[in-house]
Amino acid sequence: MTTNPLQPTNFIQAIINEDYKSNKYGGRVHTRFPPEPNGYLHIGHAKSICLNFGLAAENQGLCNLRFDDTNPAKEEVEYVDSIQADVRWLGFSWDDRLFYASDYFDQFYHYATQLIRAGKAYVCDLTAQQMREYRGTLTEPGKDSPYRNRSIEENLDLFERMKNGEFPDGSRVLRAKIDMASPNMTMRDPALYRILRAHHQRTGDKWCIYPMYDYAHPISDSIEGITHSICTLEFEDHRPLYDWVLEALQIYRPQQIEFARLNLTNTVMSKRKLRELVEQGFVSGWDDPRMPTISGLRRRGYTPEAIRDFCERIGVAKSNSTVDVGLLEHCIREDLNLRAPRAMAVLNPLKVIIDNYPADQVEELTAENNPEKPEMGTRIIPFSRELFIEKDDFCENPPKKFFRLAPGQEVRLKHAYIIKCESFVKDEQTGEILEVHCTYDEGSKTGGPTSARKIKGTLHWVSAPHAIQAEVRLYDYLLATDSQSNPEDAIETEEANDFKDAFNPKSLERLANCMLEPSLQNAACGSRYQFLRLGYFCADLIDSTAGSLVFNRVVGLRDSWAKAQKG
Ligand code: ATP
Ligand code: MG
Repeated sequence: MTTNPLQPTNFIQAIINEDYKSNKYGGRVHTRFPPEPNGYLHIGHAKSICLNFGLAAENQGLCNLRFDDTNPAKEEVEYVDSIQADVRWLGFSWDDRLFYASDYFDQFYHYATQLIRAGKAYVCDLTAQQMREYRGTLTEPGKDSPYRNRSIEENLDLFERMKNGEFPDGSRVLRAKIDMASPNMTMRDPALYRILRAHHQRTGDKWCIYPMYDYAHPISDSIEGITHSICTLEFEDHRPLYDWVLEALQIYRPQQIEFARLNLTNTVMSKRKLRELVEQGFVSGWDDPRMPTISGLRRRGYTPEAIRDFCERIGVAKSNSTVDVGLLEHCIREDLNLRAPRAMAVLNPLKVIIDNYPADQVEELTAENNPEKPEMGTRIIPFSRELFIEKDDFCENPPKKFFRLAPGQEVRLKHAYIIKCESFVKDEQTGEILEVHCTYDEGSKTGGPTSARKIKGTLHWVSAPHAIQAEVRLYDYLLATDSQSNPEDAIETEEANDFKDAFNPKSLERLANCMLEPSLQNAACGSRYQFLRLGYFCADLIDSTAGSLVFNRVVGLRDSWAKAQKG
């Protein structure tokens, strides 16, 4: 219990502070994160997780993890497991408060009979088609169902027989008796229960009727003593129904509060669409590093700290908007800049031979692991006569201001010498540059007499005989255009799946012949580095092995977001 209200950082904390003042919940703050286990969590869920667990922590309250498993047809154990792993990985704990809406099935049923007894619910035999016709439109009121005035006894009998499996799937529903003329369509006698013969992962075949979300959710919140039931904006119209259910049952009433869901540019953010990408083979799985899923971001190399920082920075608002994915990238760059050790890797190798360097000589050069953090120490990198540099760091006919390697031009090799290009060998048929011959300035090593010479370009490189071959995977956005996920996605619209037309065929580039400095030999799965001049990279959690390293590019070095902020 908090006696000192927090400085409100968002409108929900402001509501909590008001509730402290009026003593609405006796000073308690109890939230929940209620995922439906029908897919993997995405970064939008991370926003909700950070908000719910964050508010609870800041107010010395509690946050439950509750699986909203009321729709057995779409749910799987795999999702339940992945969701728990993801919430934990993000750094949050529900302690012993792991719940399932299905734990309350008996209670839901009992409450439904109570509603029937109070004359507030009835069994309706209209077909789905008829139900739609009777429902009216936004501009026209609906019509009462001919079954609306069944007697309480008949309703009790029919509902029990629904439960006992006497009627076929979809033939009847239990509906709330509210108001078919309500301007809020949600209140036009919404369905509370439907008949569905589906095996449930927790209750097996015990039930052939399942409660609807709008009925199960408020009751679950009430049973768990939730104070602030935070959900996304599309549920705003459902709030009167949330309140109606609890009021009709005369049970404890939490407060539903809506906030804007997160949308990100260049990606999709709905489980349904993400599932399509997985099932139709656009990506390798839910954890494909291009996916905006928590598992995809983790495999890509994102850290929980960066994701939490991102969720903090985007804030909590009451109107929908789309966040530039550049901000998410900015957050991981800031985090990795401080903690990722530096290393050198060449993605598209071109052989460089230093003709005046002794053929059998190998020098051990010292390189700092992180210039931002001297305490991260140094490492040894070998230098020898034959090196690799990036193909595009050499140009036969350089344009103006090409401060890299070109005939007659000098560059500095990071942590090593200044070299000068003397000649090159070219495949006359293909035009491909096969190797570049250079000389080195022996005194130009760090601390040497000519080390201070002004040279415009510095290249990264790897000693050829010591290099470790690896695969590097470069990623681009999932969607090529700036298409954004539609905020209305949650209300499963029939709208065409044209988001897949925007799928970026160049979203994955695999480079099989990359050359890494030898210190990376034992890079553990999940370890992250900054490859100089190339970006941040993470050893793949699944495909990388000691004998065959695979690195994912987390993000490049260029920070478009920070640049845009500076204007
Ligand atoms: P999707 O549309 O991606 O399937 P959902 O809302 O159906 O998402 P749930 O499993 O029902 O997914 O969501 C669990 C919680 O996460 C809910 O409280 C929901 O409001 C929240 N949530 C889902 N998507 C987002 C998002 N993009 N931004 C913020 N919160 C979200
Ligand atoms: Mg949902």
